[in-house]
Amino acid sequence: MRPFVYEQPTDISTAVAIASRFATDDDQPTRANAQFIAGGTNLADYMKLGVAEPNHLLDLNQLKEAALRQIQVTDGGIRFGALVRMGEAADHAEVNRRYPVIADSLRLAASGQIRNMASLAGNVLQRTRCEYFRETSWQCNKRVPGSGCAAMDGFNRQHAVLGVSDACIATYHGDFAQALIALDAVVHAEGGHGARKIPFAKLHRQPRDTPHVETDLAAEEIITAIEVPAIPWARRSLYLKIRDRESYAFALASAAVALDLDGETVREARIALGGVATVPWRAGAAEEALQGKKLDEASAGAAADAAFAGAHPRQHNAFKIELGKRTLVRALLETRDMKV
Ligand SMILES: Cc1cc2nc3c(=O)[nH]c(=O)nc-3n(C[C@H](O)[C@H](O)[C@H](O)COP(=O)(O)OP(=O)(O)OC[C@H]3O[C@@H](n4cnc5c(N)ncnc54)[C@H](O)[C@@H]3O)c2cc1C
Ligand code: SF4
Repeated sequence: MRPFVYEQPTDISTAVAIASRFATDDDQPTRANAQFIAGGTNLADYMKLGVAEPNHLLDLNQLKEAALRQIQVTDGGIRFGALVRMGEAADHAEVNRRYPVIADSLRLAASGQIRNMASLAGNVLQRTRCEYFRETSWQCNKRVPGSGCAAMDGFNRQHAVLGVSDACIATYHGDFAQALIALDAVVHAEGGHGARKIPFAKLHRQPRDTPHVETDLAAEEIITAIEVPAIPWARRSLYLKIRDRESYAFALASAAVALDLDGETVREARIALGGVATVPWRAGAAEEALQGKKLDEASAGAAADAAFAGAHPRQHNAFKIELGKRTLVRALLETRDMKV
């Protein structure tokens, strides 16, 4: 690991000011000289591997703003401070009652130790586990722009089938983000140009021909909170995660589902897919396919077909299309049958 300067700013504006001092206009957060660290479960790993090489590490844990560590429940929804730990949010009574899909997505992620350490903002900004990205001797457009992509013709069993490009097929591995995109969450950020709100669906960028540009954030911008609007019918929601082993593994395929039902007829469906796409993936075509329909195995199957209509498999990951469809069908039927 290279030497770096470690700083502990004590308020948000100081942290932004320090990061701004080291950032240039076209710096990406993950390639900037100064980078933020919260739980460190993702960034410290990538620093040790030589994938992330900040010269200045800005630890956010001493920031004095109390809201960064709070979960605030209001009539308008729930606001999660950026430094709230995954474990705390997963165990929160109102999160479990109002948005089971959020609580499930956090509980099924990582391990108890990691959930106690890792922050919510760090979780949504976690970087891909693509083996060729993590090992610096391989060609990787995300790590070294323009160098090529070793995964295209390499072992790509865990890679994405949706949202891929000729430059990158890396999967976005997070779980929480699928619940957030399904529920139309909003990210609050503070940077050199002040505070702003970013719809969660606009936070992550598909790789296209610039896979190193991973989010809409500027290098000096700090996520301060994530807000989920009140959706009374989201009590009928869940997160289903399919993986190689029952715990402590990333999703091969997952589905976040929330349903507004009139009897067995779908008034509105919210669907996001994990483990199969390059970014948190809202399955709009599947939602449309279900609207106004009786939810049964046939309509759920048609929605799953719609969700994967644009899939592009590579040599080893074609199984994710069938697995992803079955995961979604099961998630839809289990959500329909929930007692709320
Ligand atoms: C073995 C293992 C298994 C795992 N399994 C899962 C899993 O099944 N599902 C899952 O979802 N995750 C999983 N994870 C990922 C884990 O959840 C993330 O590492 C963790 O959530 C990251 O949070 P953190 O606070 O530690 O982030 P950090 O490592 O501190 O930071 C991550 C990134 O976010 C940036 N950042 C952090 N906070 C802010 C902020 N407020 N504003 C702007 N930028 C910020 C950092 O600069 C960095 O780029 C696993 C991790 C490990 C090591
Ligand atoms: S899939 Fe993306 S992250 Fe993986 S090697 Fe290719 S460019 Fe790099």
